[in-house]
Amino acid sequence: MASIHRSSRAAGALVGSAVGDALGAPFEFGPPGQFTARFPTPARGSRTEMCGGGALGWAPGEFTDDTQMALLLAHSLVEHDGLDEADVFDRFSAWAQANPPDIGNQTRAVLGAGRPWDVAAAEHFTRSGHAAGNGSLMRATPAAIRFAKTDTATTMDAARRISALTHGDPSAGEGCAIFSELIRVALDGGDPLTAIPATLELVPPEHRDRWAAVLAENWTPDQATERNGAVWPTLGQAVWALRTGRDVAEVLRLVIDLGGDTDTVACVAGGLAGAVHGMGGIPSRWASAVHGRVPGHGDRVWRLADLQQLAAALDSGVQQSYDPGVIPRIGPAEVLPGIWAGNLDGARYSDTDFAVISLCRLGEPFPHAVQRMAYIADNDYNADLDGMLADVLDDMKALRDEGHRLLVHCHGGASRTGLALRGYLVREEGMTVEQATAHVAERWPHLGLWNASFTEALHRLGRRD
Ligand SMILES: [Mg+2]
Repeated sequence: MASIHRSSRAAGALVGSAVGDALGAPFEFGPPGQFTARFPTPARGSRTEMCGGGALGWAPGEFTDDTQMALLLAHSLVEHDGLDEADVFDRFSAWAQANPPDIGNQTRAVLGAGRPWDVAAAEHFTRSGHAAGNGSLMRATPAAIRFAKTDTATTMDAARRISALTHGDPSAGEGCAIFSELIRVALDGGDPLTAIPATLELVPPEHRDRWAAVLAENWTPDQATERNGAVWPTLGQAVWALRTGRDVAEVLRLVIDLGGDTDTVACVAGGLAGAVHGMGGIPSRWASAVHGRVPGHGDRVWRLADLQQLAAALDSGVQQSYDPGVIPRIGPAEVLPGIWAGNLDGARYSDTDFAVISLCRLGEPFPHAVQRMAYIADNDYNADLDGMLADVLDDMKALRDEGHRLLVHCHGGASRTGLALRGYLVREEGMTVEQATAHVAERWPHLGLWNASFTEALHRLGRRD
């Protein structure tokens, strides 16, 4: 199996943080255990764990101030090709004036003080002596991606400077610096957990012990000495979940079940878990749903493809194009009972009551009410093909069980579409790979069999079940 590509980790970090934010938002300030009480098993039908609601009435999949501020920061970093603190502060201030539905107390006070960027937070800290909140850590992921290509010192320095724009307490800045270095290590393919001791060496001595305590291998959330609106338990809980959870879904479940400031802790944990596991590790039912506006920043709705493009711009300076051009429509045609196939435009212009499973990259979602976007590359470089295929097949099964007509498609409707259709028969009908391939080929003449890594994945699937 190929190793996870850096671009997948960068996108995973940004999308993972937004997904955690949106997933945790409905549970903000609630008691522990609410997420698992409501979703004891994965919710893969048309209603998923992206349930919306909460005190602020979020839409399902809508991200909050954590991601709104992260997007403001990300745009500044891309447009200025680096850190321009005055510009970031101006963008934050314009956002705060636009009455976002959610804004941290400390952030509101600093941005609303009418003071220059280089003194506002320090003056507020001197006056209030306010303990370090997690409001600067929650938006740290874009800068961590942007500066990861440089080195540890530059990464940690940028994190401290951005934190200081709203959080005068240097403890908050140290939390952002540690988090950013752990993201940098993960994007390089390293293990952030083993990088913790070396990272702590770079924290000034007066802050080190307190950070070492919450990041220790044997630290558990019940040892927290503050509520998780403070920066120490926020990062401590996120790192504990990364250490404890097997995959992105479990990491996010663990932190949201801790209760309290669930959107922010899940946002921080999602950034770390996404950098470690890559885009392919984020359940497509969550990535497909995440979206939101940024008050004061136009009316645009930000979605998965926008986050992926922004991550690419931060990581490599390259914005990818998603324009597929004009292609003749193929399908939809019913290939298996209740399961239809098509190519990109065959699916895009299909009846909107189809539940759509998209396997190629899309710039914009379709108008269909139910659509899962699970990008699988038609080459040998999918790092976690088995995991992504299982995620797709589990969703297909759950949506079929709800009675939906499914429409599976990719760009050409041949190879990736065939992978999902054949996989469904192997798993749900117990066919051999050869039987499944023959069955689909008879009913879907567009089936493409050139990708040997897909057929190998189907053989593994057949052996496992
Ligand atoms: Mg929030």
